[in-house]
Amino acid sequence: MKLYVVIPCYQEEEVLPETARRMKEKMASLAGRGLISPESRVVFVNDGSRDATWRIITELCEQDPLFEGISLSRNRGHQNALLAGLMTVKEKADAVISMDADLQDDINAMDEMVQKYHEGCDIVYGVRSQRKTDSFFKRFTAEGFYRLVNLLGGEVVFNHADYRLMSRRALEGLAQFKEVNLFLRGIIPMIGYRTDVVYYERHERFAGQSKYPLKKMLAFAFEGITSLSVRPIRLIFLLGVLLFLVSIGMLLYTLFQHFTGNTVAGWSSLVISIWAIGGLELLAIGIVGEYIGKVYLETKHRPPFLIAEYRRSDAPQKETPPKA
Ligand code: UDP
Ligand code: MG
Repeated sequence: MKLYVVIPCYQEEEVLPETARRMKEKMASLAGRGLISPESRVVFVNDGSRDATWRIITELCEQDPLFEGISLSRNRGHQNALLAGLMTVKEKADAVISMDADLQDDINAMDEMVQKYHEGCDIVYGVRSQRKTDSFFKRFTAEGFYRLVNLLGGEVVFNHADYRLMSRRALEGLAQFKEVNLFLRGIIPMIGYRTDVVYYERHERFAGQSKYPLKKMLAFAFEGITSLSVRPIRLIFLLGVLLFLVSIGMLLYTLFQHFTGNTVAGWSSLVISIWAIGGLELLAIGIVGEYIGKVYLETKHRPPFLIAEYRRSDAPQKETPPKA
């Protein structure tokens, strides 16, 4: 089984040599046990770094055929760098593991991921069992984010970042999602096939600073929700319906007050107008929004389905992808 490990790197000069050293050890150990083939590779994707990252990567490539490097034209963000790596290697690899460069993800979880691949899984999610090393703030915002995305109609694996194994056919499935606004964590669960999770403990960053300050994190969260679902629009529509119902209630109430003579002149018509106009307006926006939502989903050209298996009598032996 040819395994490719894809590692996006942005300004990671401080950790790269150590990451490369540990990766080399790990790949040798996996190959030694016959779990992966000796032609397996580690691919670093340089995401437009302005420091020595790319120089280190090219040096690694010269020293050892295990390493490969891809350099993007400019900084495009973690998700795009990762996608660039995945799409570049998908024809050559039987499976790909994606990992961060900073060694926060436990590299030893790779063993279990590869094991699960051999057992027939197409996607294996690395899930953080604890977040002891994250600050309270990071943990609170991150876990809140997973909950919010799920609430708003996205489907994300709780506490899973982008540390995962994907088989070739899962990658080919991913390639059929034509979205430009990319939120991999929400898209990959849509692929389906057999999946499993592997738990690991998240460590501190080995060196250097997080490349995800709060501002980027918020933008990422917003992108995640709005790129996945149109449920926020539906919520507006529901609110419109609710307000409209309230306005009918208010109509009855004000009429009642009017005819029992409990009001000053003009009160009834004012109150009814406020509620009715507000409700109708929101309702109308909601309906327009529904159409915009439809257009939005159409423009994504998501594949309507992916075929997991195709059995037929005249098939050239087995059609499921070769394992090991
Ligand atoms: N990264 C990237 N492009 C960016 C920002 C980050 O490729 O614009 C990479 C970075 O090198 C690292 C991974 O994405 O390998 C995760 O970033 P980081 O560890 O800074 O995020 P955190 O773990 O703090 O959320
Ligand atoms: Mg990190």
